[in-house]
Amino acid sequence: MTLSTQTYHRLLKRQLRKFPNELALNADHWEAFINVVNDTYFQVDRERHLLENALEVTAQELTAVNRQLQLFIENAPTGIAMLDSQFRYLYASRCWIEDRKLEGIDIIGKNHHELSPNIPNDWKEMHQRCLLGESASCNEDRIIFPDGSVGWIRWEVKPWMNPDGTVGGLIIFSENITDRKVAEAELRIASVAFQSKDGMIVTDARGNILRANEAFEKVSGYSADELVGKNTCIFKCPTHHDDAFYRNMWEAISSEGKWEGSVWNRSKEGRVLPVWLSISVVRDLNGTITHYIGIYSNTSDPREAERKIMELAYYDPLTNLPNRRLLLDRLNQARIVAARNQIFGAVLLIDIDKFKSINDTRGHDMGDQVLMSVAQCLRNNLREMDTAARLGGDEFIVLIPDLGEDLEHAMHALSMVADKLHLGIAEPVDLNGITHSATASIGITLFSHKTQSANELMKEADLALYQAKASGRNTIRFFDDAMHTQFTEKTNLETSLRSALGKNEFNLMYQPQVDQSGRIIGAEALLRWEPFEMEIISPEVFIPIAEESGLIFSIGEWALQNACTQLLAWSKNPFTQELVLSVNISAKQFRRPNFAQMVGELIDTAGINPQLLKFELTESLLLENVDEVISTINDLRKIGVKFSIDDFGTGYSSLSYLKKLPLDEIKIDKSFVLDIAWDEGDRAIICSILSLAESLKLRVIAEGVETIEQRDYLLAEGCYFYQGYLYGKPLSAENFQLLIESLH
Ligand code: C2E
Ligand code: CA
Ligand code: CA
Repeated sequence: MTLSTQTYHRLLKRQLRKFPNELALNADHWEAFINVVNDTYFQVDRERHLLENALEVTAQELTAVNRQLQLFIENAPTGIAMLDSQFRYLYASRCWIEDRKLEGIDIIGKNHHELSPNIPNDWKEMHQRCLLGESASCNEDRIIFPDGSVGWIRWEVKPWMNPDGTVGGLIIFSENITDRKVAEAELRIASVAFQSKDGMIVTDARGNILRANEAFEKVSGYSADELVGKNTCIFKCPTHHDDAFYRNMWEAISSEGKWEGSVWNRSKEGRVLPVWLSISVVRDLNGTITHYIGIYSNTSDPREAERKIMELAYYDPLTNLPNRRLLLDRLNQARIVAARNQIFGAVLLIDIDKFKSINDTRGHDMGDQVLMSVAQCLRNNLREMDTAARLGGDEFIVLIPDLGEDLEHAMHALSMVADKLHLGIAEPVDLNGITHSATASIGITLFSHKTQSANELMKEADLALYQAKASGRNTIRFFDDAMHTQFTEKTNLETSLRSALGKNEFNLMYQPQVDQSGRIIGAEALLRWEPFEMEIISPEVFIPIAEESGLIFSIGEWALQNACTQLLAWSKNPFTQELVLSVNISAKQFRRPNFAQMVGELIDTAGINPQLLKFELTESLLLENVDEVISTINDLRKIGVKFSIDDFGTGYSSLSYLKKLPLDEIKIDKSFVLDIAWDEGDRAIICSILSLAESLKLRVIAEGVETIEQRDYLLAEGCYFYQGYLYGKPLSAENFQLLIESLH
């Protein structure tokens, strides 16, 4: 049975009257609406068929059909709105409301043009025309939504008719196609990108190739047709990468979504080429991997590869200066040229002073910046023919290949360059707002027709540098043969020093310390080394060697143990039982972990009164880890040990640190005492040390007091304790005992 459209509408109308509130439309509106919707949207026949069947069923079932229709409109992926002839909303579907962000607003009865102020005038005009019976549509139109966002829609506007045949208003269909437009744009971009000169492939989630670009055809040797459908494992290169390599790569891809690195790829002809491969993952909205994109940058261009290799092999990545390898290469050439042409050249080895402490206290970034600024300074101050290189760490080297034929002239020119570099490095630089000035020690050696090898030259420069550092840093030293002899001697001494303890070649001497009345109140223990069949060697010579070689630990412990033994001996004699014994402790020894514990054990074993033991430390201790130093001092002071700061005024001592240090005594260095008579500067220093000590409540002892005049001056300024040849040279334990007894 066939149902006429009219019957169908009547049925609907009747149905609707029963449920007037279902939609905000009256029955006439509803009919008109259905008309338009039917024509535009629904396969009218199918719906009609539905209703034909419905005719035979009950009214209740018809209601169900009606609801279906309503559901369909409501859920249609297209926004649908019905306006009256004043453009007031009679109805709007959910999609319409969502697209225009009108949720929560009661729009029925409100003017569409007013609710959407961004509607362009030509649309308004078009709406007016539709009221006269026209229809209009557009497949792609730009829209500014009421919230200001811009998108794209496909729209269609049709008039709806009153039962009397007049136009009652408009029905607007609008489909938001913004996402599609964006996707299209992206596709266009992607397809342009696909024409890149880097090889690109797109695979499915299993690594089967879907697309490959022209550049990839070249890299792989396969045509795009051959590639499509193949799996990427055909490029694998088991001879260059093991299974673990590919496993790690895939793990990174699945965890991080991308991977990048250098790989060897096998081409169609079996050639194995290095390429830079980056793989990224494409996921769908649920996060499931749908595709992989692989980009192959060709590194097989031999010139490019060579440049890269050169850069990595011969230049320091931080400063971009040549590295040791390139420097040695150039040095070798320069040596040969110098010998042939009888000209002089030079090698300058440069070491940044206390670089480690910059790194430790200000961080490695700052350290790097210091290195970069030094590198820049070297570049700025050298000629093009010279080479500045970084050897690693804080060591730089400068090669000056041509200083001319005349030695005097060469030395003059060289000194000028060295001074310039030395001053240039010391110039303050701004590091992230902090002004920093580095200082450098420089060791220099000359070369000419002498046939030193490059390595020998480096060794010579190194020796000169060693000398520069040993003489207090921030200075320049030239290598000469005498220096070399000294070096050999030093090496020999170190060898003998190693066996000195075992051979019992050490001895402690005791130098008296007195108060203002000249009464001996204590002594300083001073170490002597008397190697078999050799003259006594001064601690000033062997202590630095012991420190450098680490022998200081055992030697220092030996001295301390013997000092304790001596204190024990003194404690048994009424003339000496109150004497305080000062022992020199080298910084290295003091910093050793468990130093305090070792001292405690020595004191316990010897059974002495720790109050009578004093440690002399030097200011070099204050250079690093001051907090640790303070904590060790405190540990030892707890058990009674006293502390004195030795050679005061000669070191790096900073007043702020000094205030932090829990000390008992300051020892004025003998260099100030020595020149009291004629050096005003030294006198001024002594005065300020004394007033500083007074404010810090520290006792002061002056060392190197040789004359009555010196003593009188010190006394007049307020220094009441003395040590020096005036009162006694360092004496053996027996002679010290005799001296004490002779004074009583
Ligand atoms: P220091 O601690 O400054 O010791 C004082 C030095 O000055 C001693 O030299 C002493 O003999 C010398 N001296 C004392 N009175 C006078 C004087 O009136 N005039 C002059 N011109 N010199 C005087 P010495 O014994 O050669 O020791 C040199 C340095 O060796 C010491 O300097 C100390 O730093 C170190 N040293 C000595 N023994 C030890 C030790 O057991 N352990 C450590 N780590 N270092 C030690
Ligand atoms: Ca001392
Ligand atoms: Ca001293």
